[in-house]
Amino acid sequence: MLIKALKELFHKELDHIYGPDEVFTFFFMLTEHYCNISRLDVALNTNLSVTTNEQVPFFKALELLKQQKPIQYMLGQTEFFGLPFKVDQNTLIPRPETEELVSLIIENSKPSKSHSILDIGTGSGCIAVSLAKNLTDSNVYALDVSAKAINVAKQNARLNNVAITFIEADILDPSIWDKQFKALKFDTIVSNPPYVRELEKQFMNANVLENEPHLALFVADDNPLIFYKAITQFATRYLNKNGRLYFEINEYLGEDMVTLLQEYGFKNIELKQDIFGKDRMVSGIIN
Ligand code: GLN
Repeated sequence: MLIKALKELFHKELDHIYGPDEVFTFFFMLTEHYCNISRLDVALNTNLSVTTNEQVPFFKALELLKQQKPIQYMLGQTEFFGLPFKVDQNTLIPRPETEELVSLIIENSKPSKSHSILDIGTGSGCIAVSLAKNLTDSNVYALDVSAKAINVAKQNARLNNVAITFIEADILDPSIWDKQFKALKFDTIVSNPPYVRELEKQFMNANVLENEPHLALFVADDNPLIFYKAITQFATRYLNKNGRLYFEINEYLGEDMVTLLQEYGFKNIELKQDIFGKDRMVSGIIN
């Protein structure tokens, strides 16, 4: 079958569920993954074809995409910050907004300096691994409450050839702080904790809601800043002088986050928007 015809079939079956651009991206993720054929190859060689055997995973993928299953879980991998990452249902699929957070940290970090970095709620390890890869002299630590997520993150550290110290612990339990961190201090603490309120569930895409781990997404409506408060308090103790705390945040809680950091004595607080113009990142320095 001609790849061109296969691609048309994908558009015919999926354009009404996803946008045509998304279907286009899915299709090329499949040609790259299963046939090692790049987007460019397809564009340049309109006569490229796949054998009946090679078509099998495409048809399987088409069925799953119709049911709105995330393609990244299907392939078991995705790309984040230009790097390959293994993902499964124990971790969120890394989002482009989080790439912006990583960029911001790299921009703010002097490349010559050796940084000590802690990522809280690492999930797939996407933040920790991309920072370790780009700030090469740094010592990176990553914490998560889920042993299954840590297992995925460890594989991603190996896949990308970086050394990270992993800690399995619940940051909401202050009794673990001294036990796990003792005399450790960090120049950078970063976190993308769960921040979607229960009341926001109704606006979420079915593919996110039904497939991605709720442990990584949701917080109770009456205490949406629970992770942010604990982590900010933690940061007042475990950041080095002039160290910076970075968060990815719920777009509706930008002002609350600025107030929270002020209350804990942070300075040079910056609230930043993502490419969609939504409040998405906040950071501050501790004296
Ligand atoms: N940005 C993610 C979403 O909208 C949520 C990430 C998080 O809760 N930390 O699905």
